[in-house]
Amino acid sequence: MPVRTKDNFLVFGAPLIEQDEIDEVAASMRSGWLGTGPKVARFESDFAAYLGGGYAAACNSCTAALHLSLVALGLKPGDEVITTPLTFCASVNAIIHAGCTPVLADVDPVTMNIDPDRIREKITDRTRAILPVHFAGRACDMDPIMAIAREHGLKVVEDCAHAIETTYKGQHAGTFGDFGCFSFYVTKNVCTGEGGMVIAREEEDIRNVKVLGLHGMSADAWKRFSDDGYKHYQVIHAGFKYNMMDIQAAIGIHQLKRVEQCFVRRCEIWDRYQEAFRTLPVGQPAPEEPGTRHARHLYTLLIDPVPCGIDRDEFLMRMNRENIGCGVHYLAVPEHPYYQERFGWKLEDTPHAVAIGRQTISLPLSPKLTDEDVEDVITAVKTCLAD
Ligand SMILES: *Cc1c(COP(=O)(O)O)cnc(C)c1O
Repeated sequence: MPVRTKDNFLVFGAPLIEQDEIDEVAASMRSGWLGTGPKVARFESDFAAYLGGGYAAACNSCTAALHLSLVALGLKPGDEVITTPLTFCASVNAIIHAGCTPVLADVDPVTMNIDPDRIREKITDRTRAILPVHFAGRACDMDPIMAIAREHGLKVVEDCAHAIETTYKGQHAGTFGDFGCFSFYVTKNVCTGEGGMVIAREEEDIRNVKVLGLHGMSADAWKRFSDDGYKHYQVIHAGFKYNMMDIQAAIGIHQLKRVEQCFVRRCEIWDRYQEAFRTLPVGQPAPEEPGTRHARHLYTLLIDPVPCGIDRDEFLMRMNRENIGCGVHYLAVPEHPYYQERFGWKLEDTPHAVAIGRQTISLPLSPKLTDEDVEDVITAVKTCLAD
């Protein structure tokens, strides 16, 4: 057996769960209040306070948050929503499930975020909304995006799955558009196992999202069964079942308290990687743009086979052999057969996203990593490139 860099497999995106989360979940279990209740309400207000404003509605995933936001905008079949080809499939699927047509605008090859100039080229008389994704935690260029939206009367839904700590000119990502959607999936910067949050600028919009997220019923279920007596509810929409449980919020409340502490740790790991890989033939993340804060959600390298001597998939296989779990964020959306068949998307229409998608690899960046883990990742990267 060849000697591996690490004895035990290093899981990509392992969550850092501490005693406070465990105790809070146990308290929920003992109280018997498992479903949507006071802890969800507290998590919502804590989260809005962290972002410095807006109204919050917790739900059971970011995918649900995106879907609810788009439905709440009242978009109609045939309406077009412009988004990035370098994202998780959920961003695009949410547009499809809201009955709309997704339109891809290519990314900037340096920032890997949607390029405002490409958005302009994709606007038609059917365009109704823009769905930017703050990729890896890097803020999208919100000034031109919001200017385009104002000019053409478009709505904006920000996919902030990577961007809890992200700011742009001092303002938190997710608070620029009509809606901001966050993820608390296990690998994300704040986790609840599964979970998501919608942030809205207008209180009426969030009320609408809450109704749509709970069967379209006009009153919260937990009010319905509260001790001030049974209340009839009215169904005012064909809604969804997207509410968050108190058990999830119990985890989130304590995760959110440590969000800045974990951010500091991920910054340390990020800086160590940047320094260690400087002399290697790999592509490194660009420095963050002045006036922005990068949430340090994903640390990605580009493995260009010409200088590196191997391609990304071979590198990925070798990293796994070294017991280092890595991610790929993402194969560009037009690489997937469903979208090719349904929308006729061609790889050459979004060349930057396709090129990045074929070269990118995400290294472990969890705050759970020890200094030794970080050095093992660095050693593994060097070993895999040298073979
Ligand atoms: C994780 C992720 C989502 C989906 O989040 P879930 O909470 O798992 O539904 C959506 N968009 C992006 C960019 C993501 O990374």
